[in-house]
Amino acid sequence: MRTLVTGGAGYVGSHMVKALVDVGHQVVVVDDMSAGHRDAVPPGVPFVLADVGSTKDMAAVLRDHHVEAVFHFAAKIRVEESVAQPRRYWKGNLVATLALLDAVLDSGTVQAFVQSSTAAVYGTPDEVPIDEDHPKRPESPYGETKLAVERALEAYGRAHGLRWAALRYFNAAGADHEAGLGERHEPETHLIPLVLDAASGKRESISIYGTSWPTPDGTCVRDYIHVSDLCEAHLAALDHLLRGGESGAFNLGTGRGHSVREIVDVARSITGRRITTVDALPRAGDPPSLVAKVDRAAKVLGWSARRAELSRIVGDAWAWKLRSEQV
Ligand code: UDP
Repeated sequence: MRTLVTGGAGYVGSHMVKALVDVGHQVVVVDDMSAGHRDAVPPGVPFVLADVGSTKDMAAVLRDHHVEAVFHFAAKIRVEESVAQPRRYWKGNLVATLALLDAVLDSGTVQAFVQSSTAAVYGTPDEVPIDEDHPKRPESPYGETKLAVERALEAYGRAHGLRWAALRYFNAAGADHEAGLGERHEPETHLIPLVLDAASGKRESISIYGTSWPTPDGTCVRDYIHVSDLCEAHLAALDHLLRGGESGAFNLGTGRGHSVREIVDVARSITGRRITTVDALPRAGDPPSLVAKVDRAAKVLGWSARRAELSRIVGDAWAWKLRSEQV
């Protein structure tokens, strides 16, 4: 198929480009390079420097490349920044996506739209694991804007026949280090890369945000999912939509929770380095525990995470760091 990956120079997007190329799809990447890395897009994959918020530019890309399926990763992703700078999120995540969807609906060629969504649409859950029907109470403009896009997709699907899947990622992590791909955010705010920075000496220590949460060891619990597993889920979602399967939202996680301390312990054993931790106050807006119920993706998409072991996820992230930074 001919596919478009927006945000294809970013972390999850660049892994998706590789996954699509590996199974024989054609890919065009659109990225505005606000956070992407040009070297994350393989040579030979067409790259268009553009803003997905330009319906005109996106219509030209869809037309010129005869695009049949769209994977939409381009977005702003920092919860704290979204609270301080909501305009960037409402415009960058909602308004820009609506502009892209105008181009998609008018294209006449696009048969499926796969949206990067997030567990942040749920807010603090009533219970874990969280299923897709759990009430949506996002607690940041980031979560609000991702939920608003899902609502638009529902309405456009009903009214205009758009086939869509919104994939709600829990904590994306790991790397396809053999392909030279990994996580490079600037600034980095995610736990696993920060813990590995503490292991490599790039930072002195890692702060543990909250040590008296109502969790087994008092630190926050999250469902970490390998980025390559996320990509496989996107391929499964595309197949599902093309087979005429029902549009909808799917949690993507492993169904297993791991605490911050567990991550640090696994990182210590994998790296063999010293990692200094500092107990810190909880971070505003962090729920104590977020774990996905993953039955819907298993049943409907026939997908489940194959790289769920924490040692695999942290090990691949470390291998990427060793390769990319020679630490
Ligand atoms: N966390 C932490 N120290 C850090 C960064 C994150 O203790 O320096 C915790 C954070 O409170 C959360 C977990 O690690 O419970 C994962 O955070 P991350 O920012 O990676 O992802 P989020 O769950 O916020 O999407």
